[in-house]
Amino acid sequence: MSGDSSVGGRASSSGAAPAPMPKFAVAARGALADTALRRDLRAVTGELRRRREAAVGELGDWEELREAGRAIRDETLLNLDAHLERLEKSVTEAGGTVHWAADAAEAARLVTGLVTATGHGEAVTAAVPAAREIGLYEALAEAGVTAHPTDLAELVARLDGGPAPADPAPPAFHRDRARLRELFVRALPDAPPDLPDDPAALAAAARAHLRRRLLSARVAVCGADFMVADTGTLVLLESEGNGRAAVTLPGTLICVAGIDAVVPTWDDLEVLLQLLPRSATGDRMSPCVSTWTGVTPGDGPSELHLVLLDNGRSAALADEAGRAALRCVRCSACAHVCPVYERTGGEPYGPRGGGPIGAVLTPLVEGVEDAARASLPYASTLCGACADVCPVKIDIPDLLVRLRGRVVESRRRRPVPTPELLMMRSAAWTMADRGRYEAALRSGARWARLLSRGGRIRRLPGLLGKWTDARDLPAPPVHSFRAWWRARPRHGGDR
Ligand code: SF4
Repeated sequence: MSGDSSVGGRASSSGAAPAPMPKFAVAARGALADTALRRDLRAVTGELRRRREAAVGELGDWEELREAGRAIRDETLLNLDAHLERLEKSVTEAGGTVHWAADAAEAARLVTGLVTATGHGEAVTAAVPAAREIGLYEALAEAGVTAHPTDLAELVARLDGGPAPADPAPPAFHRDRARLRELFVRALPDAPPDLPDDPAALAAAARAHLRRRLLSARVAVCGADFMVADTGTLVLLESEGNGRAAVTLPGTLICVAGIDAVVPTWDDLEVLLQLLPRSATGDRMSPCVSTWTGVTPGDGPSELHLVLLDNGRSAALADEAGRAALRCVRCSACAHVCPVYERTGGEPYGPRGGGPIGAVLTPLVEGVEDAARASLPYASTLCGACADVCPVKIDIPDLLVRLRGRVVESRRRRPVPTPELLMMRSAAWTMADRGRYEAALRSGARWARLLSRGGRIRRLPGLLGKWTDARDLPAPPVHSFRAWWRARPRHGGDR
């Protein structure tokens, strides 16, 4: 750690693309072993659930609002090409420039090119949901640009040497104040060594640092929660106000957003603005809602660039499951009710966000060919809590089951079958014939009894060992049910 919140100024990776992912179970090991992290996650997700329930309970027409949100997102995605063309026209007419990025590497190239073209070697960043997806910080570093995150969650993550945070809703939520204080004293250049660990002092230290950065910034890179096609207006929701400063103070503003963030009209935006903050943090409205349209001489940035990121989204629209998943408005409510997320946090889910929708979007958009993406649809208990809270009514468990089907199909197509597939094939062959099945049962039971101690089997061999990693098995009885059934005394009528 350099002792500064900046990111970059020197190459930190060999390319702009994010590093390959580990499988979910491997990536989650660190979080599962971190007792303090799990305690904090449980406390904060519990609090967010309570806040959401209270905020939603205030509205008598919540279900109607959800239905309206679903309909708006469905219509938008069905006619995405037309809405994007209108957005491009509106942004251009308002004095901005629109750039199209087919994939993450192109988006990273475009953003770094736009920053370096200004001649400045530094940029502030504010609420960029796509930062992980496009490898923003790595790409800026590679280009020799020092990035200064102004979003508190990102600032904390970067001070700690980690990637951009996986969860957009709560700021740096999974860190308790003692750990934050220790991090600030160690890594924030202007934090006093006797900084107290009370929330007001911590917030003041972060504020002083960020203000200094923001006042000297000449270039900003931000995200957008929504983009209104009718007027070319970009909308940023946040709770700290740093994003608002970042999009108004620097002379050059570069906004990077997924093509699915477009909304056709302000009326549509009104519905989504009622749904998103209540679902995300239990707020009736986000504390800071910034909207800006193009450039205005003497007021705000004099140069506005909008980088529209596809990166698999338009391909995902081709099927019903893809369209349903892209309705997501990134509120994270599904994560806050998920029992898996509550134990692992967002990091193990990969670059497209944590929680159940991250487990859907990454394999859906990036495919299920590699083991890491294929592991994500299984990172769920399918309890259905996510579907109950989703403000745009995405049936996430249904999508996860469909993706599991795709994983199985993709494994079937491989020239060299996986050990699991071979096991399933041999089980299917065995069960297809009664004689084979009964012979396998008898031999299996004999082996199982040999492996048992005190009536329990503590460890099964090979692939089956995954079952006994976390539980043991009762030893099978000496006489099987089938043997007992055949040997039982027969009465009239029995066959
Ligand atoms: S899937 Fe639904 S609940 Fe989850 S983040 Fe997206 S909109 Fe929110």
